[in-house]
Amino acid sequence: MKRLILFFLPLWLLADAHIFVMHRVNDFRYPTTNISSKLLQKDIKYLLKNNYKIVTLSTLVKRIKHKQNIDKYVVFTIDDSFKSFYKNGLPIFKKYKIPFTLFVYTQATTERYGDYMSWGEVKECKKYGELGVHSWAHPHLAMLSNKAIIKDTTKAIDAFKKYLGFVPDMYAYPYGEYNERVKSIINKFFPIICNQNEGSVTLNTPLNDIDRIAITGDVNIAKKLKISHLNVKNLKIIKDKNTIKEINGYINKPEVEIYITKMGWRWVKVKKGYFSFKPDFTLKKYRNRIIIRYNNKIDTKLILKEI
Ligand SMILES: [Zn+2]
Repeated sequence: MKRLILFFLPLWLLADAHIFVMHRVNDFRYPTTNISSKLLQKDIKYLLKNNYKIVTLSTLVKRIKHKQNIDKYVVFTIDDSFKSFYKNGLPIFKKYKIPFTLFVYTQATTERYGDYMSWGEVKECKKYGELGVHSWAHPHLAMLSNKAIIKDTTKAIDAFKKYLGFVPDMYAYPYGEYNERVKSIINKFFPIICNQNEGSVTLNTPLNDIDRIAITGDVNIAKKLKISHLNVKNLKIIKDKNTIKEINGYINKPEVEIYITKMGWRWVKVKKGYFSFKPDFTLKKYRNRIIIRYNNKIDTKLILKEI
């Protein structure tokens, strides 16, 4: 009976949507956070030609909530509200009539930092897309006390109220940095939270922990669209302060490849659906990625060094 039910389940229930994150457009002073308008147009043309549906994040979230098909859905998110997006990115989105989700760095916009949009320009962007919050002071949230995180968030919310008269329900972490403590505080204010862990989105993605794929430099969007969720069950990362002692979980694959920042990739055998990897590796950097991969399927976790 169970087999019959599985047989009739539509395949799109297993499909993945992709959310991209970009920052600057045609600002070649900052190659790691920049995309050229030429490449952006090429990517958009590729998506349209191949029947991808480009929607706002809130449209995608609605579909996930209602368990609707999200196959071939793509979202463009833009962090930091840089002027270079307003000047060089917005005209492209207008030209192709596709929406986007812009996460506003509210202090930079309020206090008119040189490289950033004004509230007037943010308002103009809202006509063609939608807005989310990207903190007040763009802090490293995990380095702040609970009280300071709440203060920063409240200031961002107040700025939205003052300048635009509403508060979005979406938030993107500055630098994509968070841990469980940060997440639980931000989640009290925002139901929808984006990180910057490379991964796709499925109907099971928790809305307070949404992965996004960065597009910068000469990134190949066709390749990024092949990324799907590996979906390791009960993934455990066991640490002793800043040493990764063990990574284990359940997965129905013969083997997986595991990556830790500054350690590199290692092949790990899966036995009877279970793997256990004991790297005994001490973290070298503040921000570390742990990636579990099998072909194009990946799960990514962020581990911040405790300091
Ligand atoms: Zn940012």
